[in-house]
This record gives sequence, structure tokens and C-alpha cells, in this order.
Amino acid sequence: MSELEGRGRRALVVGLGLSGTSAAALLRSRGWEVIAVDSAECAAPELVSLGIEVRAPWKDPVPGVDLVVKSPGVPGEAAAVAAARAEGVPVWSEVELAARATQNPVLAITGTNGKTTTTELTAHLLRTGGLAARACGNQGTPVAGLVDDIAEGEWLVIEASSFQLEDIVDFHPRAAALLNVAPDHLDRHGSLEAYRDAKLRIFENMDREDLAIAPDGTSARTSGATMQHVDTSAGPDVAAWDAAGALHLPEHGEICRWSDVTLRGAHNRQNMMVAAALAAHVGVTTAAIADGLASFPGVRHRLEECGTALGVVFVNDSKATNPAATVAALDAYPSGVRLIAGGRAKGTSFDDLAAAARSAVEAAYLIGEAADDLASSLTAEGIVVEHAGNLEAAVAAGVRDARAGDVILLAPGCASFDQFDSFEERGDAFCRLAASYGAVVSDGS
Ligand code: ADP
Repeated sequence: MSELEGRGRRALVVGLGLSGTSAAALLRSRGWEVIAVDSAECAAPELVSLGIEVRAPWKDPVPGVDLVVKSPGVPGEAAAVAAARAEGVPVWSEVELAARATQNPVLAITGTNGKTTTTELTAHLLRTGGLAARACGNQGTPVAGLVDDIAEGEWLVIEASSFQLEDIVDFHPRAAALLNVAPDHLDRHGSLEAYRDAKLRIFENMDREDLAIAPDGTSARTSGATMQHVDTSAGPDVAAWDAAGALHLPEHGEICRWSDVTLRGAHNRQNMMVAAALAAHVGVTTAAIADGLASFPGVRHRLEECGTALGVVFVNDSKATNPAATVAALDAYPSGVRLIAGGRAKGTSFDDLAAAARSAVEAAYLIGEAADDLASSLTAEGIVVEHAGNLEAAVAAGVRDARAGDVILLAPGCASFDQFDSFEERGDAFCRLAASYGAVVSDGS
């Protein structure tokens, strides 16, 4: 009998977003008595119809449970979680729960930036190589919702956030990568060290057979796996770009050239190295890796070219929700940029963003709550700023000022929640505004 069989045991699921809802349903299907709570009001009729007791709004401890599954958005100090932990009740993330519910092999990717791109790209490379693979996790498809819906042997390529990794116990991917660590979510984790430590837990159960990739100089606790690196100069690493722009994998030689692939920017070169190394580790051929890198369609809201009008390119990088992602976007578009930035800050400094903007940005059009902080960092670097207030006014000002060859880049460096429900809604609004100025997507001919 699987260790997940409920046999009348009681589980508490805290937080009823996508992953909490999937976790509650999975536990119920395994015979658990499930109580699902959320601090906000929510009816969750689909859970009620499964026989799950829903309490929302609810903040208090729920005594007498055998397991707690905590959603990523719920802080560890939440009363219901803290009380259970104090009683010695195991607290798992939805990823820990889901991985215990399946025998399917797992690859996992974490990092501050690039997780979704690398996760989707890795799954694409596996599929190009003829392996069944599903991208899932933090990118929006909860793993718990998939485990009863996958073929035997199908790979789960899991995007894991720090909030999911801080509550793992036995989670053990066959190969995993930490892409990078830059300041983000410090309001929740308290310090950069705590945030990094949560991410490093991805490696803790990995052994000698497994491939563990992390930035150079990273040391992590593992169960025997040796840390491997990717690099920008061909060397002994698991993947590297050489000075002539070719991607190499050791033992396989040259895979493809920079000019053959669809993604742009140095950060995507890193993402491609990681995805290629993960795919090679599970047996994808070099020819399939090269084909997959050339055919990857990219991911929406990540350096998405949403059209060109009068020679001006509109680029939607709404997913740049922290300053490091904006820096990466400016590396991909190093000149003639009309930058739209701002939104809700997350306790991070804008000085590195401003330094990166110095040579790339013609003018910055600022929106949202962080506009004043951004303005002081940017003007200190001599960059012209305009307080546009909202996205519509910012795009209008960018269009007013742009010359042919310029790029109007939405790379806010901040969360969207002060003016939008999500980064997707912000990116969609930007693309609609671009279209209203006549921007059409070039067909590449
Ligand atoms: P995540 O899922 O980690 O948020 P995404 O792939 O959605 O990552 O990309 C988020 C933002 O970070 C985008 O603006 C993207 O252009 C940028 N980005 C992607 N990969 C990297 C990287 N390796 N380093 C820095 N920034 C990156």
C-alpha cells in the first residue's frame, strides 16, 4: 500500500489556490479525510462536492490532523501551519505530496529567474527527442493535478519555487538545476541567505547517479550528487557556449550555433545550457536537442515580441517582476530602449537595474507604486525619466518619443499587483496597446 493511502487519516490543506485545490483533491482520492482552509473567503464547490470540508475564511489552528499541505503563498508563520508543526505534524508542499503520489521520473528546475522558460524548454527538448514529458509546477499546472493523468514513464519536468522547496522532505529529482539566485521575495524569506537555502534544498536527496547543476561556486547539501556547472566558455562543465557562439556538451561535442536558436539574450544562453544538459542526461540525442532549441516557440510574457509599428519593436517582458530580470532584458536589447518599468516593489534595490539601463535606455516611463524609487536610481545614472502613472500613458509616451529602430520594452522589475491582477494581465494589456498603435507581429520573412 502506498504511503499516501489515507485509511481515514486527516489532512489539512492550507491555502486554496491552484496547487492547494489540486493537493486537496489528490489526498481525497487517496482516501484521506481532508479539511481545506483559506484566510480569504472562498466557496470551492468542486472540493465540497468531493466530500472535503472547506473552511474559508479561516486562520486558526485545526487540531487533530496527521498531515499539513501548505500552499506556496502561505507563510510558514500562519497559525494553522505553526500550530501543527509545533505538535510534530509533517508539513509538506504540494510538490512533495505529488512526487510521493507517482512513480514517474522527475526533473526539477528552480532559480530566481528563468524557471518557466527553462522548464518549458526542457520538456520541449525531451518531447523533440521522442520522450513523453510534461512541464508542470510553479508555471501554472500543479503537479498534484497531473499525477493521475500521465502515462507510465512520462517525465514530469517540474518548475519549483523557493516556497515549494522549503517544505520538501523526500523530493528526489533524477536531475535538477538551480539557475541563479538574485534578490526577490525578501519580504517573505527575510534574507537572501534564507531564500537561497530554500532553493538549495532541491538537491538534498540527490545521489551519485543524478545530475545536479548550480551556478559556479555554489555548494549544497546532497546525498552524494556532485555539483556541476554550465558556463560561457567551453570547458569541463556539463554545457558551455564557446567564443565562436557554439553550444557544446562534453562527450557530445558541438550541438548547435547561437544563430540557429530562437531565444535571445545572455540569460537565455544560460537557460539553454541547462535545458540541454538536463535533456542529454536523460538520453535525448544531440540531434534532437539541436532541433528542439531551433524550434522552441518561447514563452509568453518573457521577451515576447508582440509587434512592430513604424520600425519600432514592442517587447512584452511583463514577467520581469524583479530588477535582475529587467537587467537580463536589457542585455538582450542593449540599445535604443524606451523602458516601461514600475509596479509594486518587493523590498529590492533598483541600483543594478539603473546601472544596466545607462547604455541601453533612451528614456524610462515609470508606472505604479515604485515609480519614485525607480526615478531616484535612474536619474542618479543620468537617465531621462517620465512619471507616466499607468501603462496606457507610458506606452503613449514611448510611442511619442520613439524613432525607427527603437524598442519599447515593458520590463517592469516589479510585481503587477498594484495596478493589475497578474503579470499576464499586464502583458496582455501592453500587447493590446501595441496593437492599437498598429503593431503587427513580423512573420520573419
Ligand atoms: P521564472 O519562472 O523564474 O520567473 P521566467 O522564465 O518566467 O522565469 O522568466 C522571468 C523573467 O526573467 C523574464 O523577464 C525573463 O526574461 C527573465 N529571465 C529568464 N531567464 C533568466 C536568467 N537565466 N537570468 C535572469 N533573468 C532571466
